[in-house]
Amino acid sequence: MIGTLNSSKKDAAIIGGGISGLLAAHTLIQLGYEVSLYESTHRLGGLIKTEKSDFGISEKAANSVLASVPVIDLFNELRTELCPVQKGSNKKYVLRGGVPRTLPLTVTELFATIGKAFFSRSDGQASLSMKDWALKHLGAAALNYLIDPMLKGIYAAEPQQISVSAAFPKLVVPKGHSLISGLAFCHEKKKSKRGPRAQMMAPRGGMEALVNALESSIKPKLRELKLGYTALNLPKASNVVICVPAYAAAAFFRTEEQNDLANALEQVHYTPLITSTVFYHRKEVSRLPMGVGILFPSIEKRNLLGILCSSDSFPGRVTDPSLLRSFTVLLGGTARGDIMNLDDERVSFVIREELEKLFQVKAPPIHINNHRWTKAIPIYSSQIEKVWEVARATWCAQPGKILFGNYTGQVSIRGLIEEARELLIE
Ligand SMILES: Cc1cc2nc3c(=O)[nH]c(=O)nc-3n(C[C@H](O)[C@H](O)[C@H](O)COP(=O)(O)OP(=O)(O)OC[C@H]3O[C@@H](n4cnc5c(N)ncnc54)[C@H](O)[C@@H]3O)c2cc1C
Repeated sequence: MIGTLNSSKKDAAIIGGGISGLLAAHTLIQLGYEVSLYESTHRLGGLIKTEKSDFGISEKAANSVLASVPVIDLFNELRTELCPVQKGSNKKYVLRGGVPRTLPLTVTELFATIGKAFFSRSDGQASLSMKDWALKHLGAAALNYLIDPMLKGIYAAEPQQISVSAAFPKLVVPKGHSLISGLAFCHEKKKSKRGPRAQMMAPRGGMEALVNALESSIKPKLRELKLGYTALNLPKASNVVICVPAYAAAAFFRTEEQNDLANALEQVHYTPLITSTVFYHRKEVSRLPMGVGILFPSIEKRNLLGILCSSDSFPGRVTDPSLLRSFTVLLGGTARGDIMNLDDERVSFVIREELEKLFQVKAPPIHINNHRWTKAIPIYSSQIEKVWEVARATWCAQPGKILFGNYTGQVSIRGLIEEARELLIE
């Protein structure tokens, strides 16, 4: 979140009814503000949508949330049940040599990685890409088989595109420190702030349950809710919270002739992505391991970014778990924009081909649900930090002018919830 509230005046206009806009509305209502919310489509939730079929549910975007204390507090407040990963399904895999492995490094690589993490000292370079950071502090094996797949899972982007300070500021190693001594040094300073480790969870019934709960909570209390309303200008209110993607926010500042901010916002690039939920009879996919999912590093040169084992992870993802399993397959990303040009039939073919080669899945899925995002996830490059700087120095410098969305510092639902709830304690 960039900017601060103008708490002397208790009215607020929020543009954008995705999860960021809903969280902002929920929090501001709790703080006693009169809130108006404007959303260009005819539904709330933005990217988040859970679709039902005869075989089970599929998520268009977010599948789960890391349940930190503020996340659990919000779900409790909304009386919405969060389910942990099902017993026996919490393994996470990385593909290596075509085989899913829970520990993708060899013993020698593991020792070399630990050695680097202990002894390789930072020269204090301000902004490193995740690739340079990993090579410096962990080595090539960890870059290829830990960092690269992790970044695919979060951003569907490549390690050289992601800036450590933008995406993982806690991993910036202070000058003269190694990764391990740097982490110990920072944790020592922030000891009091650490809570229990966040667990991966999902609302029963899918992510849209969170949207529905927020909607039910705020709807009766909103001063105004306009759906199907595309805001073209900034509304007149003491507090304006812009919760639309960066490219849509740029349009407001172009109209307002705030060209520096408009230009900066237009430089936020997004990953192209296809998510495809496939439903299978259990017996056809017995070679796919039970777990949370499998990430595919670039070095493996496969056509998929990863596979989430949706029905293994959370209850209620398939109508009959004794007969069916569902998986959400991720394709595309910044390195494989070519996949976005394939039609649905070709996408299904690519998925089937990969599942057959890797896991001997011979039969076609009984149901498949594809979603295409030309602009899915903002890329946390060094460019995005410049956008934050320009925003802080210009429009957001005035109280009551706030930018809030998955490009303003936190890409995950957990991060967005935590930022919104920070307002309650400020
Ligand atoms: C495929 C995929 C998988 C993901 N998986 C996870 C996950 O498992 N866990 C996790 O934590 N996160 C995940 N994420 C990230 C998370 O889903 C997003 O970061 C989050 O949903 C973004 O919400 P938002 O409100 O910032 O943006 P959006 O959802 O894009 O909402 C913006 C809203 O603004 C509206 N709007 C735009 N312009 C205007 C205008 N001019 N006037 C009025 N309204 C306007 C849009 O219609 C939209 O409703 C995933 C994302 C994707 C794409």
